[in-house]
Amino acid sequence: MSNTRELVEKYQFRFTKSLGQNFLVDQNIVRDIVKGAGVTKEDYVIEIGPGVGTLTRELLKEAASVTAIELDDKLLPILKEELKDYENFHLIHGDATKVQLDAVYPGKEIKLVANLPYYVTTPIITKILNDKVAFSSLTIMIQKEVAERMDAVPGTKDYGSLSVLVQYYCDTKIVRNVPPESFMPRPKVDSTVIRLTKLEKPRAYVKDEELFFKIVRMVFTMRRKTLSNNLKSMGYTREFIEEVLEAAGIDLKARGETLSVEKFAELSNVIKERVK
Ligand code: SAM
Repeated sequence: MSNTRELVEKYQFRFTKSLGQNFLVDQNIVRDIVKGAGVTKEDYVIEIGPGVGTLTRELLKEAASVTAIELDDKLLPILKEELKDYENFHLIHGDATKVQLDAVYPGKEIKLVANLPYYVTTPIITKILNDKVAFSSLTIMIQKEVAERMDAVPGTKDYGSLSVLVQYYCDTKIVRNVPPESFMPRPKVDSTVIRLTKLEKPRAYVKDEELFFKIVRMVFTMRRKTLSNNLKSMGYTREFIEEVLEAAGIDLKARGETLSVEKFAELSNVIKERVK
């Protein structure tokens, strides 16, 4: 077990539920996160939401430098005091959804490692991927269902916009599941540590990313409809739809939710070529 409970006691820390404060108390999980992230002495790490510094301390032992971003001002004096012996520790007080992550270690590739407050998971991931922040991997503890969506394969109930967004840029690997007993206070949901490793270039060649993601969003907001009906809702004619589906090698009756990232790319490229 870690000293999380002792620190909470020592500083009489009061949890703020709205900030997603569920601190890790199981040191084995902390070690598995650091190991799963593959952090080495070469690495520049950003941690979002350090809490009382349980994961931060293990990261500091392994990494070249760790910058933690914490929103709760009550935690700042605790972190400064408890981690004062680590010269490679840096702290930013702020909201991680607003901090310019690229400016933290300019010119360096970042490894992001975090037990994320669940309410910021999707905004943070979307921001990092869409803003093209220079990172090599994200190893994050998130709600189990969200991890399953990121890791899902086409045609399953979990496969959706988030799967396509994440898999367009990254390889996904489930590191481990984590039960509620590993936290204080205990969350109501199960958690999973997932590692997203950035691909050298996106999984498929896409001519127009805006169009690609527009099609993906349309497919999954109306996932019970066929792909041709999805495309009809985007204003394309039946004739045009038949032509592009044939050119992309997609069955006229197919549902969009069965399309791989590569097929979504092919479809959006075929459409892009024809509406120039
Ligand atoms: N890393 C610690 C651990 O594993 O025990 C704490 C994890 S706890 C799930 C999430 C942490 O994120 C809390 O310390 C919370 O105050 C902080 N937090 C919540 N919203 C935040 C935000 N928008 N930006 C930065 N930190 C945030």
